[in-house]
Amino acid sequence: MKLGNLVLDQWIDGDGDGTILSSAVSGEPLARITSDGVDFAQVLAHARSVGGSNLRKMTFHERGEMLKALAQYLMEHKKELYALSTETGATKADSWVDIDGGISTLFVFSSKGRREMPNDHVYLDGPPEALSRNGTFVGQHIFTPKLGAAVHINAFNFPCWGMLEKLAPTLLAGVPAIVKPASSTAYLTELMVRRINASGILPDGALQLICGSVGDLFDHLNCQDTIAFTGSKNTAEFLQQHTRVVSESVAFTAETDSLNSSILGPDALPGTPEFDLYVKEVTQEMTSKAGQKCTAIRRIIAPATICGALVEALAKALGEVRIGNPANREVGMGALASQGQRDEVRDRVRELSHQAEIVYGGDDNFDVVDADASKGAFFMPTLLHCEKPLTSSAVHSIEAFGPVSTVLPYADLEEAIQLSRMGEGSLAGSIITNDNDVARQLVLGTAAYHGRMVIINRHCAAESTGHGSPLPHLIHGGPGRAGGGEEMGGVRGVKHYMQRTAIQGSPQTLTAIGNRWTRGADERDPGVHPFRKTFEQLAIGDTVHTDERQVTLDDIQHFADFTGDTFYAHTDEEAAARNPFFDGRVAHGYLIVSFAAGLFVDPDFGPVLANYGVDDLRFAQPVNYGDTLKVRLTCKQKTLRAGTGYGEVRWDTEVSNQDDEIVAQYDVLTMVATDEHWASVQ
Ligand code: NAP
Repeated sequence: MKLGNLVLDQWIDGDGDGTILSSAVSGEPLARITSDGVDFAQVLAHARSVGGSNLRKMTFHERGEMLKALAQYLMEHKKELYALSTETGATKADSWVDIDGGISTLFVFSSKGRREMPNDHVYLDGPPEALSRNGTFVGQHIFTPKLGAAVHINAFNFPCWGMLEKLAPTLLAGVPAIVKPASSTAYLTELMVRRINASGILPDGALQLICGSVGDLFDHLNCQDTIAFTGSKNTAEFLQQHTRVVSESVAFTAETDSLNSSILGPDALPGTPEFDLYVKEVTQEMTSKAGQKCTAIRRIIAPATICGALVEALAKALGEVRIGNPANREVGMGALASQGQRDEVRDRVRELSHQAEIVYGGDDNFDVVDADASKGAFFMPTLLHCEKPLTSSAVHSIEAFGPVSTVLPYADLEEAIQLSRMGEGSLAGSIITNDNDVARQLVLGTAAYHGRMVIINRHCAAESTGHGSPLPHLIHGGPGRAGGGEEMGGVRGVKHYMQRTAIQGSPQTLTAIGNRWTRGADERDPGVHPFRKTFEQLAIGDTVHTDERQVTLDDIQHFADFTGDTFYAHTDEEAAARNPFFDGRVAHGYLIVSFAAGLFVDPDFGPVLANYGVDDLRFAQPVNYGDTLKVRLTCKQKTLRAGTGYGEVRWDTEVSNQDDEIVAQYDVLTMVATDEHWASVQ
């Protein structure tokens, strides 16, 4: 059976016989792979013209809803994915990371897109920038989707997660994807794409799949396209130098090799909970996914005085892991993804052994449960010990992409930092210590060489997500050897597929472009109090100017007694005057906010359902008793919460005194009923 290529929304077979892909467990052939004959110029053109325009018609929230529907659909179809995943050598736990982990990435991006991005087509990056004395010319950074395609080239180790962690932010951004999985495990990616395609949830052109070579695709890239690559540093360097990538400045994100380290703190001696946690963490990282994780611990940096005890404990823990057929529930570690991969790991261990001694594993004869060791790609977990790590380069540069790790002793924290940095850039680092001063020293010493760091101790271990788990909320990527790229990290990851543009113009123009009222833009007369309007009836710019209210000394005293906030600045004339900011007793900031609400609310039952907070509250100057307050309240931004019966409305709020000086500024956040909901409760 040939794996299909999903191009121009059709499944097609590539030409020729292609390459045979075999089961990592039995060595039996599973499928053939070829993309010969695919017209890659057309693939790109289809993504741009059909996929991109379909996706860009949707708002960020609509695309977020789409991701959620897709995640729910895949949850219902994951059984067959789990079954096929076994052939990649993955145990059930490994498959859970790949399949459920991938699907949960869709859920997280869906939720972040709907909570943290507007229900709109343009994403505003930060507040407006004041650029002129009179405020008639302002600046604003915006993000809009790139008008090209995202080319995703993935590694073999996570055929599902690897695709979905890139796909989620790409689709949320409004950009179509062309996915090229690594050949050796492409059969699992293909099955998932078949299910995605069958769901009908994505619009035409949003997703295409290339199983096999990408042919001349790179020759047709342009400046609107993005490449997100995961794999080896050599391939990344080769592709990054493609003439088209260079001449068109095609955005290129690379996630490559990584000699990740984990440092055991000097406090974590045998007998402490941290020592045991370390042994557990290292064992887990070495054996989960048979060590084929870009984030796995490759360098075990431990105090020299306890390395002997550590090696002993690790050897014992590794010895308890049963290796074999991943479908067998007793098995803790399955096979590598292919025989070729196993041979590669064997070669790398041989190279490492010139500078480090094998202290566990490294043997070709070991027990394999429920499988034929000569046919499957099994490899024994292998631990090395390097006595002089400061002068051994191999242990910091050779990545054996399997269940292999090396113990590197350190004399003091400075040396531990130096060793960690010798990896020359890592995706993930960890520190196991219960001494927070040690944690700070190690983080400050090594963070610049890491994309993510996790610090584990007895207090957080039970809930810790562990050293090697990239999370959609946090960035995944790292400097130097790790590729210099960055993926995920919530909305940050979505921005990789969009263009940031600085917009300059009048406040009114910027309001029209961003659908967010900018100070200095026109104020609209709402006709009635804006609290009488439904979500649909409210217009951005609708403004109410309130009556005035004087603040008396009695008000301040009453507020102090009533709330218990008797801070001297509100209650002691003489003490307040000694404070450099005040001339005497002043009103509480929260009294100002409370009086402001009293001035601007319309009290009767109406479409405004609730005030759920304020943002960016600043007290610009003190309010003395005798001062008079008034409020300007302007409808600033509307975000429909589809299907809930309400939308969120943000109000730009300015409280000023009798001299028209601003004393407080903030955004009031409310939930306002839609027409439909309001009609139903009348
Ligand atoms: P690889 O050989 O570099 O392959 C990675 C991807 O690039 C595969 O899809 C491969 O396709 C494709 N590729 C290779 N040559 C290409 C070319 N000339 N044009 C277009 N695409 C090309 O890496 P690998 O050996 O599969 O993966 C293992 C490496 O990936 C390890 O070093 C590991 O550290 C790294 N990795 C990094 C991360 C991360 O997030 N940083 C995650 C996982 C793995 P074919 O399979 O069809 O050749």
